[in-house]
Amino acid sequence: MTLEKLEDYFLSINEKKYKARQLFDWIYVKKIDNFDNITNIKKEVIEKLKSDFYFDKLEIVKKEVDVDVKKYLLKLHDDRTIEAVLMEHDYGNSLCISSEVGCNMNCSFCESGKIKKQRNVESGEMVSEIMAIEKDTGVRISHVVIMGIGEPFDNYDNIVDFIAIVNNPFGINLGSRHITVSTCGIVPKIYEFSDIPYQVNLAISLHAPTDNLRSKLMPINKVYNIESLIESIKYYLSKTNRRVTFEYIMLDKVNDNPSDAMELAKLLKGLNCYVNLIPYNETSGIEYKRSSKTRILEFYDTLKKNNINVTIRREFGSKISAACGQLKSSKEKV
Ligand code: SAH
Repeated sequence: MTLEKLEDYFLSINEKKYKARQLFDWIYVKKIDNFDNITNIKKEVIEKLKSDFYFDKLEIVKKEVDVDVKKYLLKLHDDRTIEAVLMEHDYGNSLCISSEVGCNMNCSFCESGKIKKQRNVESGEMVSEIMAIEKDTGVRISHVVIMGIGEPFDNYDNIVDFIAIVNNPFGINLGSRHITVSTCGIVPKIYEFSDIPYQVNLAISLHAPTDNLRSKLMPINKVYNIESLIESIKYYLSKTNRRVTFEYIMLDKVNDNPSDAMELAKLLKGLNCYVNLIPYNETSGIEYKRSSKTRILEFYDTLKKNNINVTIRREFGSKISAACGQLKSSKEKV
C-alpha cells in the first residue's frame, strides 16, 4: 500500500494517520517481517493489522551468479515465478524487476513473451523483489529498472503505486530519478504517465524506424503506430522536460541497415532523447541473429553524424541467460 492508502486505512479504523508513517518505518527501514516486533503501536491495533494484512515474502528459488550480475528466480505466493536481475555498476547496484507473470505483447524477438500473461505482479510484490534481493545480498539497491518480464504499462496502476511506495522518504526512499520504466509503447499510458508527480525516467522500446518494419517485430505497433507514439513522447517531454531513452536492439540485416539508421535519425531529430543500441541476445527458438560489431558501430556512427545522442548498451549476464529478452516466467508451478 502507498503511504496515503495506509493513512486512509488507519483513519477508517479510527486511528491517527501518523501510524502509517510508523508502520512504513518498521517495514522498510527497520525491516521487520512480523507484526509482533512492533513496539510503538498498541496491542489491539497490532491484532487488527494481523487480521487485515500479511507479509508477502518472495522466496528465492534459484540464484545464478556471474561477474557483476546475479539472476534470481522468485516464487510468488501462488507459486508462480518471475525473474529479477541485480547488476553492479560503478554508480551503484541496479535491479531489473519483472512487472507481470508472462507478457501479452508478443514481440517476435523476445523470450519473455513466449508465455502469455498469467497475471499482474502486484505493487507490493515488486517492492518485495527489491527487499528480498537486498536481504539476500546485504547490499543497498540504488537504482531500479522495470525492464524484466512483462509490459509495465499493461499493469499501470500497480506501477504507479510501486513508484509511490519506494520513492516515499519514510520508506525505501529510492530517488525517482533512479527509477526507469520501459514500455513497448502503450500510448494512452504514456500520456497518463506524463502527468504523475514523480520524475521517473522513461525508456521506449522502439527497435525500428518505420511502421512497416516495426509492426512485423512488435504487434503493438499495429495498435499504436510510430506517429502516435512520437506524439505521446512529445507530450511527455513538454510535461517533464526529462530526456527519453529509445531502446533499439540490433538484429542482423533486419533493422541494422544504413538506411534504417538514416530513417531513425530523421524520426528523432530535435527530440530530447538518446538512443541505446542493444546487441541482440540470441535466445532459443527465435531465429534472429545479433548484428556484427562492425554493423553496430556503423549504425552508431551514422546516428552520431546526424547529431543523435547514442550509446551502446553494456552487456550483463548473457552467460546465465539474465540479459535483456532472456528472462522468462516458468509455465508450471514450482
Ligand atoms: N515490455 C517492456 C519492458 C521489457 S524491457 C518493453 O518492451 O520495453 C526489455 C528490453 O529488452 C526491451 O527493450 C526489449 O525490447 C528488449 N529485448 C527483448 N528481447 C531481447 C533480446 N533477445 N535481446 C536484447 N534485447 C531484447
